[in-house]
Amino acid sequence: MGSGSAQLPAQPLLLTAEEFSAVTQFNRGLIERAARGELAVPDFPALVDDLQRIHQEVRADRRGAVAAYIPQLARVDADQFAISVCTVDGQRFSIGDADVNFCLQSVSKTVSYCLTLEEHGPDTVHRHVGREPSGQGFNELTFNKAGLPHNPMINAGAIMSCALIRRGLDAADRFDYVAETWKRLAGGRSVGFNNSVYLSERSTADRNFALGYSMRERGAFPPGTDLLATLEFYFQCCSIEVDAQQLAVAAASLANAGVCPLTEDPVFSARTVRHCLSLMSSCGLYDFSGEFAFTIGLPAKSGVSGALMLVVPQLMGIAIWSPRLDAQGNSVRGIEVCRRLVDCYNIHTYDLLTGLGPGAGAGAGAGAGKRDPRLKRQQSAIEGIVGLCFAASQGDLNEIRRLAACNVPLGATDYDGRTALHLAAAEGHRETVEFLLSAGVDPKPVDRWGGTPLDDANRAGHRHLARLLADAARL
Ligand code: GLN
Repeated sequence: MGSGSAQLPAQPLLLTAEEFSAVTQFNRGLIERAARGELAVPDFPALVDDLQRIHQEVRADRRGAVAAYIPQLARVDADQFAISVCTVDGQRFSIGDADVNFCLQSVSKTVSYCLTLEEHGPDTVHRHVGREPSGQGFNELTFNKAGLPHNPMINAGAIMSCALIRRGLDAADRFDYVAETWKRLAGGRSVGFNNSVYLSERSTADRNFALGYSMRERGAFPPGTDLLATLEFYFQCCSIEVDAQQLAVAAASLANAGVCPLTEDPVFSARTVRHCLSLMSSCGLYDFSGEFAFTIGLPAKSGVSGALMLVVPQLMGIAIWSPRLDAQGNSVRGIEVCRRLVDCYNIHTYDLLTGLGPGAGAGAGAGAGKRDPRLKRQQSAIEGIVGLCFAASQGDLNEIRRLAACNVPLGATDYDGRTALHLAAAEGHRETVEFLLSAGVDPKPVDRWGGTPLDDANRAGHRHLARLLADAARL
């Protein structure tokens, strides 16, 4: 796929009234929200534009190197690059190599962990695996004080997940169970399996064997665990293949509390997803996890194939795939895309503190100037202007400064042509009037009744303000 596709039919479809009511009967709510412009990302075309721009810009970045520990990964075309997004309402867009398959590698660890939680509950699972970041590389030979893997998002912990999933089934059924779960999360299209990746993983797996034997020596596994079968199962899970479109839908299923947005299939409970997202937030990017939590502030999981799955809870899932990795084993372009998205949208978990609400103050910091993807086109602009007029009528200069830092135009008018300057003049707020004039707003805007701020000041008897406004109007 060389260019973007918003996955809309190429030709408009003409339906009869009966056909229309037949195809819409199961999706009334969704169709109604779509018609009202109230889907998860109401201004989806704006997001599409941004993803196209980001893809174009980040494509030039050729830093990093593909994983070379097995020839099957070393041979992939390093320049491939896909971004795919799916919202919790099933709005989808993909750009780049979004229909090329890649193996999940460590991204598989998320679903393996969810499956252990669904089957055994968190208390039992966490008797065998911790939930602290290790601060070490993904395959480091290290355990916590209790002799357990640090968390399920690194190799040792994911080997433990594989030991816990459907212990009573034979190998083929255990694998089918995991592959089927990925298929359900990804919207119902079958996932693949890369047998040569699996075979090479298995034959170059000294470190993973070492992790397995060390855990066995420490008594970390449940009694009766077949270590070799467990390791084989782990290599198979790493070798499951998806494309970026499928991974985005799977990420959207997590964003949607475990329910696939395309099929409404409730794959995981919300509780399971909550636990998984918590650990993705703290441990999802190996020894870059703390830095990622700081700068991006969203749950994510990477794999050495160059896959990166990003979850924006209750909003959307994003998959980025590009094989060149940095020193920690994370996709260079994957992380760059996340950075740029968080630069333009207020989706970092704690952007809610910096962009809105009292106390944000002047120079609202990291959240300032970002857009909210949850808002309708124009909605943020309208809310900004209403907020500005309200703040001006109250003389709330702090709020006005904050709105200015969020790019709300100080000279904007409401539907009656009233501006912040009219309102501040009418209410006699001298500091606000001075601030607005010094910020360079038009000193004599005319409202719908032909009135200027000077008229407002005169009518209310604010003589000092009237003088100020008359002077400004003469300049
Ligand atoms: N198959 C790889 C391994 O076990 C997966 C690791 C990864 O994606 N970080 O070493």
